[in-house]
Amino acid sequence: MRDMPIGQIHAGRNANTDGPSGCASPTSRLCEAAPQDRRLTQAPRKQLPSPLAPRSWLAWVALALAAPAAPPAPAAQDASLAWRVETDTGRLVAHRADGTFEWCGDRLAEVTCWDAGGKERSLALTPGEGWRIERRAADRGLRLMCRQEEMGLTIALDFAAEGDVLTARAPASDIEETGAARLKTLRLLPRLGAATEGDDGYLVIAQQSGALCHFRDKKPGEHWVSVYQSLCQCPMPLFGIVRGASALAGIITSGQFDARFCVSTARGPKRQYAIDPAFTLRSFRDERRLPDDIEVEYHFLPAAEAGWSGVAKRYRRHNFAHRGIRSLRERASASPALAYAAAALEVRIRLGVKPVPHEVKEQTPETEPTMRVFCDFRRVRDIIDEFHRQGIARAEFCLVGWNRGGHDGRYPQVFPVEPALGGEGELRATIQHGQSLGYQMVAHDCYYGAYRISEDWSEDYLRKERDGSPQKGGVWGGGQSYNMCLARALDLFAKRDMPQIRALGFAGLHYSDVLSIIGPRPCHDPKHPQTRHQDAEAATRILALAQKTFGGAQSEGSLDFAAPALDRLLYVDCDKWLPLTNRPYVDARVPLYETVYHGVMLYTLSTESVNSRPGEDAYLRGIEYGAVPLTYFYGHFLLDAAKNWLGKNDYRYDDPGQLKEVATGLRRVHDDVGRLGHLQMEFLEGHRQIEDGVFETAYANGQRVVVNYREEPFALPAGGTVPPRNYLLLESPR
Ligand SMILES: [Zn+2]
Repeated sequence: MRDMPIGQIHAGRNANTDGPSGCASPTSRLCEAAPQDRRLTQAPRKQLPSPLAPRSWLAWVALALAAPAAPPAPAAQDASLAWRVETDTGRLVAHRADGTFEWCGDRLAEVTCWDAGGKERSLALTPGEGWRIERRAADRGLRLMCRQEEMGLTIALDFAAEGDVLTARAPASDIEETGAARLKTLRLLPRLGAATEGDDGYLVIAQQSGALCHFRDKKPGEHWVSVYQSLCQCPMPLFGIVRGASALAGIITSGQFDARFCVSTARGPKRQYAIDPAFTLRSFRDERRLPDDIEVEYHFLPAAEAGWSGVAKRYRRHNFAHRGIRSLRERASASPALAYAAAALEVRIRLGVKPVPHEVKEQTPETEPTMRVFCDFRRVRDIIDEFHRQGIARAEFCLVGWNRGGHDGRYPQVFPVEPALGGEGELRATIQHGQSLGYQMVAHDCYYGAYRISEDWSEDYLRKERDGSPQKGGVWGGGQSYNMCLARALDLFAKRDMPQIRALGFAGLHYSDVLSIIGPRPCHDPKHPQTRHQDAEAATRILALAQKTFGGAQSEGSLDFAAPALDRLLYVDCDKWLPLTNRPYVDARVPLYETVYHGVMLYTLSTESVNSRPGEDAYLRGIEYGAVPLTYFYGHFLLDAAKNWLGKNDYRYDDPGQLKEVATGLRRVHDDVGRLGHLQMEFLEGHRQIEDGVFETAYANGQRVVVNYREEPFALPAGGTVPPRNYLLLESPR
């Protein structure tokens, strides 16, 4: 890990800047209707169906007769939307035709811009703030041309409905800035569906695994959480609001690389709670405006799906339908390496690293410090042999630091294979030895950071800050790292080196560091400028090349722009740096990310899970969340032992007896992988707390895993006992 993930929560903008009143009173479930509503309704507004309205009642009766044991299936529901926008106020109101709950927003957008004098201004996109909103008909919806004469700004907003999805779009090409003002941010449908203190329901925040914020007992505030940017933020461009038996799933389908979510808590006199996306059109006044369209889909879920799990499943469906995501099962059927890895214990071995920290930050051949050798290639064979002796039959060994200079030693240079570890001959022999015993042998590399000591060093391919200076990363084995422009790194180094790394014999889930844990970031080098979107695409292309070359790809984090080309990731949660449950807007952590991606990618939960042992909290939580274990030899490498982050426990040994003891412990972990590994091919369909300290996770094949954190056995109401601090795999529901 080059750059430790640092939280970027910006809490506490003025909490009392309450705008015009928002939506429904908690009891009415209906927006405060304006008298001119009907004239402004986009489509003839449907009568709100009462539970006994003839049409719905008859439909229900017909279904009840056809299938008396089951409620009406979702497919039989009327999933169409009734919605309208009021051009004289900017209010938007929408509801499902088969529901009564109205979702309302009091304004179309908020923008910030720099005025002629460079001063930052904030404007609500409402007629009251000088906007003229002109309505035009459009396919499946309407277009609103929004003009602010004083500032010389024009923004087109397109709204279109299909099924239960309302899509709002601000095309980049239809934004005009005819005066001196320059747009900075656009916040779309702020506080749509806002709840008030004490309402039933919660916000769904896609931060780390996923968080819920109930509508009660929060301090007033606006909390900004980035989409992507770091592991500690939101790995998915997804948000949700659950209001009683109604729910909204919001998916950012364009502009997500430059987006943040605003989580409002107890805001204003009405103590409102809301979550909505804002987009950065420029980071500084002279920057070229974001070329991406802004597009958000608002999915109004039927009552049967009105929960965080329904929000996750809607996004999962979107991924499969629109992002080219395929299930692990489908991909594994075409990749024996992936099929193997999915049911194997992942074992990372850090072979060697130069001292971190070290007083020489810009290393030269003369000042380069000597590498600390933890485990040379011959010793790796000892580990493999001990695993084999103890019946650890399926493992994928990932060698970290096999390259010149050891871990982070001289990237982007990787060759020659590090002589101090035994050189290329010994490495090839080790790979072959592991494979001869049935293990998968894979390599760690990195196309993110570059070091001056590298024989490939040049400033040409580095990512540049807006002032043209190279962007610095962390200080690691090679000294000061500089971030590479990923599009350049792909063309110059990944394409050059991956085939050569493959030729050493490595095959399996090739590990490429950092790519999915931080970023995306722009590059301001005029020779190879990159938007965040383009940076994310370059990262994904590097991983896709690894998949093609080695049979699979893994990287460090959960940021889901990489999901179309990622098979395994190391961390979802950020417990070490920004524990979710400590955030002021978080009431509970839920497996939201896991519901989207279990059955799609293999993941470990957090750095706390590394080397955790059966019975420990982190180990049990991994099982509860459908994660796979991660084993690390010599994970701790910082000279200041207290600063190491990879698990509480590190595996290292000085003699055969100690290695034997380590392998004996890992046999138990391996056996759990054997018992639960088949579930990696299944989607996670449900998760609930049975009682304090007892949780059940349900999978698409009907099996369930009950995890018991208690110190005593837990007897399940339907029979069966979960041992203390352990789990039980149950067949389909009894
Ligand atoms: Zn660049």
